[in-house]
Amino acid sequence: MAQDSINRIDNRNVQFQCLPVQLDAQACELHMANPWKIAGAPASSLRRTVIVRLTDSDGMTAIGEAAPSSLYGESVAGVLAAFAQRVDPRQLSFADVGAGMDYLSTIHDLPMAARCALNVALLDGAARRAGLPLHRFLGLDFKEDHHVTSFSIGIDAPELVRRKVLEASGFPVLKLKIGDRQDHENLASLRSVAPRKPVRVDANEGWSNKEEALRGLEWLARDGRIQFVEQPLHRSASTADLGWLKERSPLPLFADESCHTVRDIPRCAECFHGINVKLVKTGGVSMAYETLQAARKAGLKTMIGCMIETSVLITAAAHLAALTDYLDIDGNLLITNDPFAGVTARGGLLSFSGATETHGLRISPR
Ligand SMILES: [Mg+2]
Repeated sequence: MAQDSINRIDNRNVQFQCLPVQLDAQACELHMANPWKIAGAPASSLRRTVIVRLTDSDGMTAIGEAAPSSLYGESVAGVLAAFAQRVDPRQLSFADVGAGMDYLSTIHDLPMAARCALNVALLDGAARRAGLPLHRFLGLDFKEDHHVTSFSIGIDAPELVRRKVLEASGFPVLKLKIGDRQDHENLASLRSVAPRKPVRVDANEGWSNKEEALRGLEWLARDGRIQFVEQPLHRSASTADLGWLKERSPLPLFADESCHTVRDIPRCAECFHGINVKLVKTGGVSMAYETLQAARKAGLKTMIGCMIETSVLITAAAHLAALTDYLDIDGNLLITNDPFAGVTARGGLLSFSGATETHGLRISPR
């Protein structure tokens, strides 16, 4: 056995005996600034998320978040039940995040969102114990006022789309959700007030077959300033259909619902030009790191996206910015009662300059 493996195991045993953690989880209701509608889902003004805190025997508390998605069969109740009944926090320690994740892998059908919350909290604690911001702990750079997030415009009536685009005038890049009979009017409304702004389009699986998707992509390409299109077809679309579309598409195609973990990367390289990694889909920061790296190796463009979530997950994602070509981490900007402060996005530019915490996630309560 290699010497470093022996050290890791010894270290793991010692730390588990000395510094197990206690787990506290609470549901949290998030209020949307505007009712949120995407293709295939009803409009909603409320979202629920779960905030988890891990506290070690020294009293140090770290924080994580699960923003479960019904799209993937997950729920707040399911995440809370998993924490209460199936996760033994004594198996988790800030001293060995890898061992904690190995333990979580042994729990059958643990919701990805729950795994994500615990991974984020373990890394927050580990980085704080190391006296480093999370990106440094992961060996990554973070350039202040360099990484740009887009701002999302949900499906709405054309006049409301126009108003939302005006309200988002400070953001240099927009993401437009489509999948509605008024798509053409909505893009025209956007262009009436932001004629030259780069726009990303999220089809959210809204086109029903490859021919319809190609017609939609050709329409979007005529705009001249669409950067790429996310998830044109349903996640169950065949590799043959997606490959057909990739070959003919006039715009780069990004996988979202078709890409969950690193295991999806080989197929995504056949079917798409890039991927959208979300922490709650992939199971946390460690797995997002692995997925983004594998995607780059496979020649794919990379993006981090988000759900409607608080600054906990948005800030966790920001620490991975160096591994991405694009960022879409605005879920905290779409709610009016974010309980936390972390990374900010003034003018779309990510910054930690106002963060009072210097280590770990750099999150503090508002
Ligand atoms: Mg998407």
